[in-house]
Amino acid sequence: LLGTYGDDCDIPIYVVGGFVRDLFLGIENFDIDLVVEGNGMEFAKYVAKQLDVKVVEHEKFLTASLFFKDGFRIDVATARTEYYDKPAELPKVDISTIKKDLYRRDFTINAMAIKLNSKEFGMLYDFFGSRKDLEEGIIRVLHKLSFVEDPTRMVRAVRFEQRFDFRIEDETLEILKETLEGGYLERVTGQRIRQELEKILQEKDPVKGIKRLSELNILNRIFPKTYFTVLMEKKLKNMFLVFKRLKNIYSKNNIFYAVLRIFLEFYDVETLKSVMQRYGLPKKFVEELKKMEKRIIPVIEMIKMRIKFSDIYKILGKPVFETAAHILAYLDDEDSKNYFFEYLERVFTVKLNLSGNVLKEKFKIKSSPEIGKIMGEIFCMKLDNPYINEMEKLKEILGGRNG
Ligand code: ATP
Repeated sequence: LLGTYGDDCDIPIYVVGGFVRDLFLGIENFDIDLVVEGNGMEFAKYVAKQLDVKVVEHEKFLTASLFFKDGFRIDVATARTEYYDKPAELPKVDISTIKKDLYRRDFTINAMAIKLNSKEFGMLYDFFGSRKDLEEGIIRVLHKLSFVEDPTRMVRAVRFEQRFDFRIEDETLEILKETLEGGYLERVTGQRIRQELEKILQEKDPVKGIKRLSELNILNRIFPKTYFTVLMEKKLKNMFLVFKRLKNIYSKNNIFYAVLRIFLEFYDVETLKSVMQRYGLPKKFVEELKKMEKRIIPVIEMIKMRIKFSDIYKILGKPVFETAAHILAYLDDEDSKNYFFEYLERVFTVKLNLSGNVLKEKFKIKSSPEIGKIMGEIFCMKLDNPYINEMEKLKEILGGRNG
């Protein structure tokens, strides 16, 4: 259908990139990237009109996205050549042909196109030996300056290598190491590196990807003084095992921050500051990290000893997502994990029926700190036993005080 729209507008149109790669690998992929040899934005507008879907244009990059009602999305780009004013910066864009467009891509396996116009429908455009590399399981850059132009491709190389169990081709590996040594990764904005790292964290086996980043010395270029030790591997694995379960409890859940907690666990002040600036970490994240620094290990001990919830609460309170994840990274026996999950559920669901007003009006307690303290005490009791009678407990507390 899209091809016939191309015919209507008299412009060549191709599906490219990951979709074509996955087609040959027999993997389902619903991310459709189209490239047109002509004005991509005009084409997208035409399609949007025909199919009555929403279109969003990005004029600077000569691209547009089509949003279908069922959440399906198609990105349309104008075939382009990119040129770099300075290495490691975002490219400038010129209109071009499909071959040049494919040449600017990251790896050969991502640099194929299939034509969609009716005349040549289904025709594969493979200028750089992409299919062969795909069959042999090889990650190869298209030219020697690829990593210099865009150093985030180093992280991408690891992602695809680990996802498909491929191998980074020898020369590409050499170029990668040279570029890394040349300090190019440090020139990229933290934001762009973070984006690529987050994609690794979305992979099926993220720990494998992180391990490989460390092997290639990429990880400690991104986070100085972070080394992938056996213990770190274990902690990360423990953590990834429970993310799904944790997400059921936390609506605010940022896996990147949770992983950072493990990376930054033994950080000195200077490095923490530089990482914070580079990756735009919120102040809250750093404050929480510092606050928990000396508490994590005692809390873990308490969980392992099944100390009652009210006592754990006095040290841990209601932990944010990454703190909970950090604790779980240390727990590998199921019973301890379950005990901690039970704690989390309890602290987030237990609510007091009693209100401060009742204490004020009925029991004539005037001081707010005093009210807060009493309510806190009852909350703690309820953490240990959600079925207590709050009023009875209140009377007990007050009786105890008066007596
Ligand atoms: P995934 O299956 O993870 O979505 P993908 O190949 O679709 O993988 P995207 O990051 O969505 O990856 O990128 C889409 C396409 O755009 C890639 O196939 C590649 O051709 C090209 N591309 C993306 N990022 C870069 C980059 N940094 N340098 C060059 N080409 C890139």
